[in-house]
Amino acid sequence: MEMLTDTSLRFLFDGIDVRGESVKLGPALVDMLGQQPYSKTVNRLLGEFASAAVLISNNLKYEGRIILQAKSSHAITLAMVECSSEGHIRGIAQGDIQQESSDPMSLLSGGHLALTIERDQGQRYQGIVALEKGSLADVLEAYFAQSEQLGAKFWLASDGQTSAGLMLQQLPAQLSQGAAREENWNHLCTLAETISSTELLDLPPETLLFKLYHEETVTLYPPTPILFKCRCSRERSADTIALLPDSEKEDILAELGEITLTCELCGTSYCFGPEVLDPAGVINAPQKGEARTLH
Ligand SMILES: [Zn+2]
Repeated sequence: MEMLTDTSLRFLFDGIDVRGESVKLGPALVDMLGQQPYSKTVNRLLGEFASAAVLISNNLKYEGRIILQAKSSHAITLAMVECSSEGHIRGIAQGDIQQESSDPMSLLSGGHLALTIERDQGQRYQGIVALEKGSLADVLEAYFAQSEQLGAKFWLASDGQTSAGLMLQQLPAQLSQGAAREENWNHLCTLAETISSTELLDLPPETLLFKLYHEETVTLYPPTPILFKCRCSRERSADTIALLPDSEKEDILAELGEITLTCELCGTSYCFGPEVLDPAGVINAPQKGEARTLH
C-alpha cells in the first residue's frame, strides 16, 4: 500500500457532526529540520509542531497561513512552524538547539504557545495559551477549549525523521444535539485514544482510520500534498537591510564588498551591493544571484 507520506488527509463521519484530519510527514520534515544542527529531541519537538500546524491549517478558509510559535526562557527560546493554505511548511527552533531530553516539551517549560492565523487578504488573528505540564496535543486541546466554541482533540507523534498526527474536531450541531452529540464525540475520541505513538507513525493514514473507525462510515477526501518551502525573498531581505543605519551598511560594504543575508529557515543567501545605500535602488538593482546553501 502507498505510504502517503507528506500528505494531509481530511475525512468526515457519516451521520456525526465531527470532522477529522490525518497527517504524515517524512521528506518534507527532514528538509525542514536539515537547515540547523538540531538535537534528536528538538527534531522530535519540531516534528510535532509541524504535524500540528498542518492539521490546524486545514481549518483555513482563505489563502494564508497558520503559525504555531512557542516561546520560553528555558532551553528552547523559540520553536516555530508555519503551514500555508498551499501546504507549504517551514520552521525553526532557537536557543540551546543541541539539548536532549526524554520529553521534548520540557525544553519549553514555563513558556507559552501562540497560534496565529494570517490571511493574505484581511485580518490577522492570534490566540495564546500557557505551556503548562503536558504534551503539545494537551496544550492544543486546552487552546481550542478556551478559544473555540467547538472541541478539538489531537494525537501527535514524531521520531525526529517522520511525524504524524490525527485531529478530530466537532462541527456545528446539525445531525444530533445534546447528550447524543456528546456521546458521539466521546465515542470517536475514546477510539482514537487506543492508538499508540508507534502505530500513528507507522501505519498509513487509511489503515489507521480503518483500524479505529471500521464500524463508522467515513468519507475520505483526496490527500493534500505537503512540502517544505520557504517564503523568504530578495524583496523581503532588501526590506530588512533597509532598516540598518547607512553607517553600518557602509562599514559592511567597505569590509566585505557586499551585504549577504542568509535565511535561517531555508539557507538561501541574498547578496546586495552598494545599491543598498540608495533605498529606491535596492529592488531595481541587477540581481546578484541567489546562492542556496546545501546541507
Ligand atoms: Zn528562506
